[in-house]
Amino acid sequence: MNKKIKTNIIPENYRIKIEPDLNKMVFRGNETIEAEVTTRTSSIHLDSKDLDIKSVKVFQNEIPVYCRFRQTKDGILLLNLKNRVYGAIRIMIEFSGKNNDKGYGFYVSKYRYKGVDKKILTTHLEPIYARYVFPCFDDPKLKANFELSVEIDQNLDAVSNMPVKSSKDTGGKKKLVQFYRTPVMSTYLLYLGIGEFEKKEVYRGNVAIRVVTTEGKTGLSDLALRYTPTLLDYYERYFGVKYPLKKLDLIAVPDFQAGAMENWGAITFREELLLADDGCSPKTKSRIVETIAHELAHQWFGNLVTMDNWGDIWLNESFATFMSYKAMDYSDKSLFSRDHFLEDRYETARVYDAIENTHPISFKADNPIDILEG
Ligand SMILES: [Zn+2]
Repeated sequence: MNKKIKTNIIPENYRIKIEPDLNKMVFRGNETIEAEVTTRTSSIHLDSKDLDIKSVKVFQNEIPVYCRFRQTKDGILLLNLKNRVYGAIRIMIEFSGKNNDKGYGFYVSKYRYKGVDKKILTTHLEPIYARYVFPCFDDPKLKANFELSVEIDQNLDAVSNMPVKSSKDTGGKKKLVQFYRTPVMSTYLLYLGIGEFEKKEVYRGNVAIRVVTTEGKTGLSDLALRYTPTLLDYYERYFGVKYPLKKLDLIAVPDFQAGAMENWGAITFREELLLADDGCSPKTKSRIVETIAHELAHQWFGNLVTMDNWGDIWLNESFATFMSYKAMDYSDKSLFSRDHFLEDRYETARVYDAIENTHPISFKADNPIDILEG
């Protein structure tokens, strides 16, 4: 969020419905945001980038407040209200957007199966890409609950942070899939994936751990399914806090720029950092277990406890990395994680620190450019 925007509005709940069109690579959406206004105001700023806004309605105590809106070039949706509002308000927005192939926001990832070109839709919202999918208060400290639903073709599957609450036929070969409400969390951790997925699952207590892949790849999910329950056990014991969700999806995405992303309960991975057959090299195995261990650590560091400002992302990343090697060591001594920590991490940090334009560990990131450079 831009420095100039005062956080006088605290979002509490987002109810979002997305209707994608996989063929045209566009989506329609509508949302209701319940928020608390802490300082009396007649102007509200939301983050919204590359979205077409069709309508905006604002209510206070169920009474409509006349509102005009406009979008600025730097990605702000500015609402001007006729009257000043205070306390609980409701904002309803209808919007539409385009799916891109650039690897951020709500994007298209392509693969080939049995000689046919196929695609899935998937999101990557860290650090400031939630605003490309729905108008929001896109700041890690402005946490809220999310109730997500999607209207999709009957043959498609949808995956999000939470388990599916209901799936209803809406006629015309479509279905409405509704997910359970998320815990209070930052916008950058929301996830939505749509496609023809295959899943393989194991249970650890009452938590379903699933590896989600595109077609024909479930045979490569055993390594991840073998290590994940032990890694979860380690973190729960070490942190003294149970993994709070009912399911954990590890999703292999064919095109994914980041190595992996810790979306709460719906972690995404570049395929080669999650999928491997049992005969893979020790190096491949070690790299996959380390990546899973890192992202699982984020389910606590980052997701449950979050930095206020992107400038303190080091807290999130360095602790997740440090913890991942401890968890690996616990899960399998033959991975030699302590040796790898010294070789891969300690030495790499020294090399980076010796570069002339190295930046401080902690810095102030107040606008989108600073955030993306961090
Ligand atoms: Zn990380």
